[in-house]
Amino acid sequence: MPKPQFLTKTRRRWIGVGLMAALIAPTLLLSPLPSAHAKDLELNLYSARHYSSDQELYDAFTKQTGIKINQIQAGDEALLERIKSEGKASPADVILLADAARLWKAQHEGLFQPVQSAILRNSVPAAFQSETLWFGFTTRARIIVFDKSKISPEQIRLYDDLANPALKGKVCTRSGTHPYMLSLLASIIAHQGEQKAEAWARGVVANLARTPRGGDTDQIKGVISGECAVALTNSYYLVRLLKSPKAEEREAAAKLGVIWPNQGSTGTHINVSGGGVARYAPNPDSAKKFLEFLASPAAQAQFANANNEWPVVAKVAINNPELHGLGTFKAEKLSVAAIGQHQPTAARIIDRSGWK
Ligand code: FE
Repeated sequence: MPKPQFLTKTRRRWIGVGLMAALIAPTLLLSPLPSAHAKDLELNLYSARHYSSDQELYDAFTKQTGIKINQIQAGDEALLERIKSEGKASPADVILLADAARLWKAQHEGLFQPVQSAILRNSVPAAFQSETLWFGFTTRARIIVFDKSKISPEQIRLYDDLANPALKGKVCTRSGTHPYMLSLLASIIAHQGEQKAEAWARGVVANLARTPRGGDTDQIKGVISGECAVALTNSYYLVRLLKSPKAEEREAAAKLGVIWPNQGSTGTHINVSGGGVARYAPNPDSAKKFLEFLASPAAQAQFANANNEWPVVAKVAINNPELHGLGTFKAEKLSVAAIGQHQPTAARIIDRSGWK
């Protein structure tokens, strides 16, 4: 290999021309094929949501940005497992999950990459984002429904009341190991400490009307059927029943008593659904644009309405008479980060208290 000082000016010029040609030629040859830039005009969305109105929203995003959305739909847990097993080869760009417990889990397992976005940072309230890794887009409340013929509302003003021995054999919940229960328990740990939270969990287990089975809708239906007198549920499951195409479900749901727990103290437990950019996203720019789109006012209203939730962005109005019909309430002021932080302790308490 000749040293540079032996090269004549002419030879250097020819080497320069050769290098230029080498750089330009592949670009010319590849130009009819998708370039790295064109690849950014699609987005692989891993989502547990399956609402028909979401498709309209995704179409609006494609129209606005030219970015095509490929949806991979599965349950939250299945999505997380899939992304983990795909590893660095995962085509996932955006991961959407329900509940801070799952978002925290995905964060903890390193499935997200940071997003620097002034739009997201400023439009999503600080309590509903993990700074850069994920952002909440809708909120839901964990409420209590009860049979008015068996329980008076004064008996269940607080989550704590569900552990009162007066409710022995009357309480229904889904499994304590489910993210919705873990997050509620994490919030109780944050407000009252581990010891009181464990006493509460043991108290609720002692009051259960039956071994936990099914989802929140099954607990509401347990109250309707008379198997339970009181049940815990996320707010949107009740609203879904209030809007059921089956008249008997609508009528039965309308007869239930509804409690916004902890109005005189910490406020009703609030959780989020949200998402972030996948760690190995092949299209990170598209992913960021999509998250910013979800934080826009029009998308916020539609995204929240699809699952009878509330938008996270302040002043975005929703048109949902059944949800409005449940009234207003004082919401818990706890950051989703705190809910995440207490997940391991919550899981240990659930285990120790035998909340199957
Ligand atoms: Fe749910």
